[in-house]
Amino acid sequence: MHELSITQSIVDAVCERAAGRPVYAVQVRVGMLTAVVADSLRFCFDLVAEGTVAEGARLEIDRPPGAGHCRSCGGDVAPTDLVLLCPCGSADVAVTSGQELQIISMKVG
Ligand SMILES: [Zn+2]
Repeated sequence: MHELSITQSIVDAVCERAAGRPVYAVQVRVGMLTAVVADSLRFCFDLVAEGTVAEGARLEIDRPPGAGHCRSCGGDVAPTDLVLLCPCGSADVAVTSGQELQIISMKVG
């Protein structure tokens, strides 16, 4: 359940920026390769946000797909899970997308 600690960080940052104003929506970018489950994130967000200015805020999760570049054959890899393996058999893949975990925007009152 590392989603809980991630969500705590998100809510902390959101509340700090909101500076006492009510938060209506929070948009986060969570790459497909972060091993974060969107549903768990949503569940934890509601839990953690309770009693804060972010309570009841809508959590929008943007999930960019993973992308990588194989250092062995130079090919582009589109990893769909955490196993970064190039079709050529090499695991020497540099991830170029999909590991994002950031707050993109928020709407405050
Ligand atoms: Zn390769």
